[in-house]
Amino acid sequence: TDAIRPLIAGNWKMNGLKGSIAEFDAMLNGAAEVAAKADLLVCPPATLLAAFATKAAGKKLSVGAQDCHPKSSGAHTGDIAAEMLADAGATAIIVGHSERRADHGEGDALVMQKAESAWRAGVTAIVCIGETQGQRDAGKTLDILRGQLDGSLPDASTAANLVVAYEPVWAIGTGLTPTAKDVEQIHGFIREFLTSRFKADGARMRILYGGSVKPSNAAELMAVKNVNGALVGGASLKAADFLAIAKGC
Ligand code: PEP
Repeated sequence: TDAIRPLIAGNWKMNGLKGSIAEFDAMLNGAAEVAAKADLLVCPPATLLAAFATKAAGKKLSVGAQDCHPKSSGAHTGDIAAEMLADAGATAIIVGHSERRADHGEGDALVMQKAESAWRAGVTAIVCIGETQGQRDAGKTLDILRGQLDGSLPDASTAANLVVAYEPVWAIGTGLTPTAKDVEQIHGFIREFLTSRFKADGARMRILYGGSVKPSNAAELMAVKNVNGALVGGASLKAADFLAIAKGC
């Protein structure tokens, strides 16, 4: 089978003002150089999405969103529909990030609806899963991941419309990362799940690793079997770091 093309996705979280467009410009300027190796995606806060998408037009870098509401419109004050994000230029939407699950009580069923709403809007869903430190310590990691995969991935998932991001909660923003051996075991488990549920599509779906990815550890993590790219938080805010991570894959 052909190699799966890696995706390096940046999650800016609640960071970025109009002044950050200069940093984004630097990412656009470096994107062509890494385009042979990987697809690049930056997910800024919704306030910057349209401006970034306009700048990214015709460049080797796409723009995405960090969350969406499952409905296409209506009386949902403060929420943003997938259709609106697509209209602003998003080509992908992150759903089920652990910060959404923890801060907003989002569960698997809602995450699945959000993934389906991304497709309804014509964009890719990046579904995040991951265990907490407590779940890991209790030896429950694979059970938790199986439950999240079962509950968050819609039946109609394909290699084109869905990306899975494995993000151990204890590794997000902490500087801690699992060992390459642990990542290989867990991504192998996710691959088996995807292949058994989605057959040929499951064999080709991208599985990203996320959690404290930096230029110094990216190459080692990206070389692990069944790691098809990264979801990068903090290190995606700086063009030099984000591009260096992409070069490492
Ligand atoms: C994330 O929250 O998606 C993430 C991976 O964050 P960080 O890279 O900062 O650990």
